[in-house]
Amino acid sequence: MRVQFWGTRGSIATPVPSMARYGGNTPCIEVRSAGGTLVIVDCGTGGHWLGQNLIAAGAKGLRGHILISHTHWDHIQGIPFFAPLFVPGNEWDIYGPKGLGQSLREALAGQMQYTYFPVPLDQFGAKIRYHDLVEGTFDIDDIKVSTQYLNHPALTLGYRLEADGVAVVYACDHEPHSRMLASGHGEITGQDLRHAEFVDRADLLIHDAQYTAEEYPAKVGWGHSTVEYVMKLGQYAEVKRVALTHHDPLRDDDAIDRLLASIRARLGENTSSLDVFAAVEGQVLELAPSHEKGPARRAGESQAQMPIELALANSNVLLGIADTKMATAFSKVIQAEGIHVEFFSDIDEARKLIAKDRPSLAVLEHDPPRIDGMETCRAIRQQGNGHEHQLAVVMVASQEVQAPGAATGVTDWLIKPFTGAYARTKIRAWVLRTACQWMREGYPEDEERRLARLPMHVQQHRRAGARARGSRPLPQKETEKKRFPENVISTDKSVLLWMYCREIAPFETPTFGEKVGELIARATSAPSARL
Ligand SMILES: [Zn+2]
Ligand SMILES: [Zn+2]
Repeated sequence: MRVQFWGTRGSIATPVPSMARYGGNTPCIEVRSAGGTLVIVDCGTGGHWLGQNLIAAGAKGLRGHILISHTHWDHIQGIPFFAPLFVPGNEWDIYGPKGLGQSLREALAGQMQYTYFPVPLDQFGAKIRYHDLVEGTFDIDDIKVSTQYLNHPALTLGYRLEADGVAVVYACDHEPHSRMLASGHGEITGQDLRHAEFVDRADLLIHDAQYTAEEYPAKVGWGHSTVEYVMKLGQYAEVKRVALTHHDPLRDDDAIDRLLASIRARLGENTSSLDVFAAVEGQVLELAPSHEKGPARRAGESQAQMPIELALANSNVLLGIADTKMATAFSKVIQAEGIHVEFFSDIDEARKLIAKDRPSLAVLEHDPPRIDGMETCRAIRQQGNGHEHQLAVVMVASQEVQAPGAATGVTDWLIKPFTGAYARTKIRAWVLRTACQWMREGYPEDEERRLARLPMHVQQHRRAGARARGSRPLPQKETEKKRFPENVISTDKSVLLWMYCREIAPFETPTFGEKVGELIARATSAPSARL
């Protein structure tokens, strides 16, 4: 496997002489398997130069794949300038994390709107397919790709690529879940352990290392790692080589040299075999299998391209926050994601809501003696109807409760202080994970009773999903058949919307969609934006 760095700078491009050696372009990595499969990971400003290089090489009928970690500017700004996307005859697949509202295509089209860029997204001459990803695996020809959410104030995927007997992991942008670990000390547990398992025995780990432990206290919640954390992670996960990247835009070349020298000295003192370097723009690595037993291969994951819209249709979040200001803020954040919020005042109410509505997630506050979220979590887990074990519980607290056994039942932590963006991303990730779990395992036994309370078009969605998966098909009711005879026009707005969307979907080209949208808008006097 061949890896080339085209952009190594984090956050913003830094085209200044003092940073020219490690590079000023934002993240873009080119990966090629021995079989010739071309995968580009992130397309920051470095993508412009990679594109020029591909064009200069004169490739005709170029076929490639672009994996986007998230749609923050520094990771997508190269896309409008990536020349191979404009060449007819080329074929590209672009992948990125699935949001809750906007699709990847819509998010990428946003930065190419008239206000920001003269050429819109639908003017790309190449044939382009967009893929919204969740956590899981999929194959790109001979490369096996695994995805996992990172810890960042935007829904972000890490990518693990396996081919030719080697594994390369790309993890930008990511902040350690435990703030203690940012110092390079503490135990790797919980969600940090999950991250370590994702990078396990990689031959090359390309990791966000924007800050140092000394700088971190002023950067808590900014969504980036420290070099000390990456060192600890690399050693723990028995990684062979670590490329530190997403260099801070204020750290010049000499400062990176000094940082690297001190890290290597520390590793030498500990007689560590970890090979650490700072990624340099233009640098090429030819990777051969480096582990005797080969990289630990991830097995048994679900499909990263799972169509989970159906399972997302009626997501709701249970909120157990006593602080009214915080509860309001959470409620706003959750509703902004289009998710229904339910509040409870005591454990009996919480149990009833869990049994009745099967929420995707519970967010609880722990701030003793004012409110004991740990006790509420324990009570929920002891409910005894099956769902209480599947329910994800995010605990909001000033610090993680580390006492042995005390953390039982908490799925994830949100440590104060945190930004709205962080809370929103954490909720988004857990709602998506639950939806994936439902798609994998089928809906609960009492789904029919639960569905009866939902709008008819959502019921249809759910039943169609169950049929498509062939798992536990739900019975079709006679009344429902009567309500949707072929030639009857309904006046129910949500039903109309669903029917029109269903008709438009197979013809999803922007111009056609727009025209049909206008016609429908005129016919129904509804604003076309709603379609
Ligand atoms: Zn970034
Ligand atoms: Zn970012």
